[in-house]
Amino acid sequence: MKDNDCIFCLIANGDIPSNTVYEDEYFRAILDLSPAAKGHTLLLPKDHAEDLFSLPDDVAARVMPTARKIAAAVKEAMGADGINIVQNNGEAAGQTVRHFHVHIIPRKNGDNAMPLWNPGKSDPEEQKKIAEAVSALID
Ligand code: AMP
Ligand code: ZN
Repeated sequence: MKDNDCIFCLIANGDIPSNTVYEDEYFRAILDLSPAAKGHTLLLPKDHAEDLFSLPDDVAARVMPTARKIAAAVKEAMGADGINIVQNNGEAAGQTVRHFHVHIIPRKNGDNAMPLWNPGKSDPEEQKKIAEAVSALID
């Protein structure tokens, strides 16, 4: 359901104009207002869900096929060499708009458009414990 206090709900449902690149029954995809690179696109579900954890399964199942379709068009239109798919959940992870969205970011070789993570070191014993802890929480 749409939340009238949520800017992405209003954009996704066409109440606020946007540069729309795709729309169907479930989603709207728009150009990001502050793009990491030209053609940076956001995929927004029309129904409000704060983040990945509150996204209904049926919508979640449609996200990747839809993102892939849009990413292919963005890649071709922008002449990109690659595409980052980014999806932030929670403030700590960089989420600033509390309505689930997927970033589709076209990249050119050597563009430095967005920093990736710093590869750290892993300890085999600790890795084993982490894998067990996570695994135990998955149905
Ligand atoms: P995140 O940090 O993952 O929550 O991403 C939010 C994204 O939404 C940022 O990349 C913003 O530039 C973008 N954004 C915020 N407001 C708007 C808007 N009105 N139209 C288009 N993009 C927006
Ligand atoms: Zn919303």
